[in-house]
Amino acid sequence: MLFSNCMERGPNERKIGEILKPLSAAALASFLAHAEPSYSAEIPPDASWRDGIEALHRGVVTDTAEHVGWYVMGEREQWLAPPTRGDPDERFYEGNPAELLPSDEEVGVMCEMHNHVLESFLRAQEQGHAPSEPSADTIRSFREQFERDPLVIPPPIDAPPSYGDVSIERHEILRSQIQERLGHEIEMRHGVKTVQGIWYWDFLPSAKDLQAYPALPRLDESVAPQEPRASISEITLQYVRTLQAGEDAFEARATLSNAYEQTLGVRIRFVQNEEIATEPVCAGAHYQEDGN
Ligand SMILES: [Zn+2]
Repeated sequence: MLFSNCMERGPNERKIGEILKPLSAAALASFLAHAEPSYSAEIPPDASWRDGIEALHRGVVTDTAEHVGWYVMGEREQWLAPPTRGDPDERFYEGNPAELLPSDEEVGVMCEMHNHVLESFLRAQEQGHAPSEPSADTIRSFREQFERDPLVIPPPIDAPPSYGDVSIERHEILRSQIQERLGHEIEMRHGVKTVQGIWYWDFLPSAKDLQAYPALPRLDESVAPQEPRASISEITLQYVRTLQAGEDAFEARATLSNAYEQTLGVRIRFVQNEEIATEPVCAGAHYQEDGN
């Protein structure tokens, strides 16, 4: 979730960030108050790609914590549910998730999906890390309408992949766990379901260099703020403002995707809700309508 306080740190700074910035008592109280019965985004293993995405979407609207699902394509297609732990806004794998992969059948593509829940936006708003609009009341009323009609237009908010999501280090660890489990490489795709659609991402060769953040500064060193990261959060806010103004967000998304590419070495691609069913299963960041 790009609006949570993880916005301020890069992939390698996470642990320190957790120590310095624990969830405030007020935010925790508000989280507990919101912990109404949540309809979990559990995806049955034999669900179709589309049913799984619908479950993740329902989770975006109604769950209090984000949810991870892997859509595995090979001899057959199935959803797997790797166990996770940690922050409700940014989950980590519990143990070695690659152990879930079937070692006795052929696996060609692993599509790692998760969702960014609206509840995270409310928590970030509570802590002053997110815009004050749409208000908690607006989101509450959207949730009520959603229960009656899941196709109701979502509020003007979106949460592109977080720094933790697009960390090349995280990706490389998972890749080597999978390789060890299966004995060969498979294609990995990544995506996050948000209230507006799906953001897919993939890593460019430049990711390793661009994400090699310097070690944490010593206490006696004064360090200038890291510009690239500040600019991605600014551009994300501009994108959200475009949504709120009811304007076409095409340009704003293009600017955002350019910033991810230039500063993180990550290609991101957005597919809006109405378009998901028109694309191939887990089409990924490199998919283009005309061919590919
Ligand atoms: Zn995420």
